[in-house]
Amino acid sequence: MHWIDEIDLRLKKNWEEQMFLWYQETFDKERLDEKAREVRELLLDPNLLDRTEALLKREKNPISKRKAEILRKEIVKARIEYDKRLFALRSEIEERANKFLPLINGKEVKINERSKILMRSPHRKLRKEAHQSWKPLLDPIEKQARKSIKLANKLAQGEGFANYPALILSLDSISSDYLFDLCLKIKKNTEGVWKKFIKKGREEISGFQMYDLRFMFYKFFLPPDSYFPKERMIESLKSTLESYEIDLSSLPIKIETQDMAFSGGCYNLKMGEDIRVTYNPVGGYMDYRVLFHEFGHAMHYLYLPKSFLLIDDQSFKEGMADIWSGFIDTREWLQEFISPPEDKIDTFLNALTLDEAFRFREFICELSFELELYKNPEANFEKIWQAVAKEYLGIEDDSGIWSEFVFSAPLYMKDYIFAKLIKSVTFRFFRKRFGEIMGNREILDFLIENYYKPGNLIPWREKIEGATGERIWT
Ligand SMILES: [Zn+2]
Repeated sequence: MHWIDEIDLRLKKNWEEQMFLWYQETFDKERLDEKAREVRELLLDPNLLDRTEALLKREKNPISKRKAEILRKEIVKARIEYDKRLFALRSEIEERANKFLPLINGKEVKINERSKILMRSPHRKLRKEAHQSWKPLLDPIEKQARKSIKLANKLAQGEGFANYPALILSLDSISSDYLFDLCLKIKKNTEGVWKKFIKKGREEISGFQMYDLRFMFYKFFLPPDSYFPKERMIESLKSTLESYEIDLSSLPIKIETQDMAFSGGCYNLKMGEDIRVTYNPVGGYMDYRVLFHEFGHAMHYLYLPKSFLLIDDQSFKEGMADIWSGFIDTREWLQEFISPPEDKIDTFLNALTLDEAFRFREFICELSFELELYKNPEANFEKIWQAVAKEYLGIEDDSGIWSEFVFSAPLYMKDYIFAKLIKSVTFRFFRKRFGEIMGNREILDFLIENYYKPGNLIPWREKIEGATGERIWT
């Protein structure tokens, strides 16, 4: 076996074991640390980079060459992400956030309970309390978060980059300026819808605040829960698959309910052979969106090459999941599997532009918060958060509650932004080329052949351009 395939195999095994640990409901820090140590041993071997560079120069086999290209990036990335101190800081933040139980109404509750209140409770005081309940988590992690930013910058500078984001973006062949311009463009494109929404919110609630945002958004956006009962979720997924001539029970994908803090997850326990989708339904449209998103991950995992190095980049992975959640936002799907009255469908489809604006702006807000801190690590967290919330959400937020997610999953927001762009360019192409999306086997074959099977053998932007003739940044 070629040495690069051997390394790939060991990385694959390590990744599957990490997946298993994430799949467990309890956070097993010790074993996760053990897996991180293995990656360090593999990727931070001082001779490996030289060997990889040498291979890149002379290798003729396109698969080995591409693997070497990716391995080189993985080595650079590992020098930062798997640095012992940085890894420890980030996992400590993550562990704290995972274990945190907000205190609301005199009771410690699970994180999803807090989200439910912010999303649905008509009692403003309770929403405010739920929002503020995050504060006791933030105060003690601020110091570590700041340390992690400084350390990540320092490590990136050691690799010849201006700061940490510059290094991470370079792995995706983009620059901070490009990302900034893209965010500005998205902001401009969603300006009208968003301003109208905020204006409406202010008319209904004077002194409209962060803790009113989700509530108001879901009030305008969500279709009635009664059309989306939790008992029918799996059935609707099965029928959707049947419309594509797929029998869910014949796939190595198991769908399980799990009483967890998050709303859903997908775990590739054995690449393409044992994939688990977990979900935690409470009833309503959002549950369906989560299930289809996670199932989208599973379908992608099912067809990817059985290799660690050829797993697609995060942005593309999230895009593959978003394509599946996009299925349920089509008129055809709603008509066939939910069948509410036509005027309800129209209302919902119209509200999707608000949904788009909301997601994009929320992602951009968090991403900007993070990028600003990498630029200026001594800055006051609350002030930066206030500034970006005003800029991208149009809200004067004086609560001092910032997003801690960005410190355990750095720059992940850019992947969500790209995922939405990947989805929309693909759907545009589907409509143009195939017309019907639901129940059209050509759609699924397109995804499998062009998007899933090649994995990272082709960089994801090229893959999309090659298959659809379109670029994602239009
Ligand atoms: Zn996802």
